[in-house]
Amino acid sequence: MKVGCPILYIVVPCFNEQEALPESHEKLSKLLQDMISKGSIDGKSKLLYVDDGSRDDTWQIIDRLVNENNHVAAVKLACNSGHQNALMAGLAAAADYCDFTVSIDADLQDDITVIPQMVERFQDGCDIVFGVRRERKTDTWFKRTTAAMFYRMMNSLGVSTIENHADFRLMSRRAVLALLDYKERNLFIRGIVTNLGYKTDCVYYDRSARLAGESKYPFKKMMNFAIDGITSFSVKPVRMVFMMGVLFLIIALIMLIYVLTAVFMGRSVSGWPSLILSVWLVGAFILMGLGIIGEYVGKIYTEVKNRPRYNIDTTIGFDKE
Ligand code: UDP
Ligand code: MG
Repeated sequence: MKVGCPILYIVVPCFNEQEALPESHEKLSKLLQDMISKGSIDGKSKLLYVDDGSRDDTWQIIDRLVNENNHVAAVKLACNSGHQNALMAGLAAAADYCDFTVSIDADLQDDITVIPQMVERFQDGCDIVFGVRRERKTDTWFKRTTAAMFYRMMNSLGVSTIENHADFRLMSRRAVLALLDYKERNLFIRGIVTNLGYKTDCVYYDRSARLAGESKYPFKKMMNFAIDGITSFSVKPVRMVFMMGVLFLIIALIMLIYVLTAVFMGRSVSGWPSLILSVWLVGAFILMGLGIIGEYVGKIYTEVKNRPRYNIDTTIGFDKE
């Protein structure tokens, strides 16, 4: 790695971002130019857009940008593979050409003006620099509370995440290569990155509102993401089911004593309410347990299949090695 003037690739996953992309691009390319002219990054640095199977004009816009500007490269995924996979595709493509990457969402809700600070930390020897939101006033109340709940739950389940850090982060080439070694299909990148073990640091910023267009993370996708995050990193839910089983065994023993005394005292006909209650309760917990176990079995299934994460359709605008 050339210390002093390293090559930066800014990786931007885009899914149906035709409204936000032109403005985002303008801001990002200006920032890139500034950093190049200041000499903090190499002139071969680029913006790398990953089109995650958009159904609008996102790819046409990207294609135009690549033709107009030789600081733009792009990867087009053959179909929508999800934010995390699109990000991986971008990082994997970038790793061949750059010394370090910065990943950021296309809507620029994260403050790009802290990128130079991130670069400074990188030059001080950090492999990973996390962008952390100081406050999220511009997110809806719902998004803020669910996110806070999620981070709290993750931490109580023993998954190390950095609170209020999404996927806005700087990663050195070797950190990216290490990340790419995680071959799992159920990706929760921000959980893996904290486990890589390299020197890390944080920079802080205020999160702003989406530039344009609407969130590509509807409630259902958010729920799936949270479930993936928990079940990919923690086996505690399974242990909870087991502990629940133990608890039920104890209750069953108490019930047995209760029933026996009832029989000896000649009250054996009664007890229908407690019986029917137990039947329902036990049934409910068995179903819940099966649901959780099913989640893990499903994970094993997808891991075992070992399918590729994504298929690249085209790549354009890269420098020939
Ligand atoms: N995104 C993607 N594929 C998807 C969904 C989202 O590449 O299937 C991208 C999207 O274009 C954006 C980023 O992931 O750049 C984050 O999405 P968004 O801003 O909609 O999420 P939010 O900020 O609302 O959580
Ligand atoms: Mg966003």
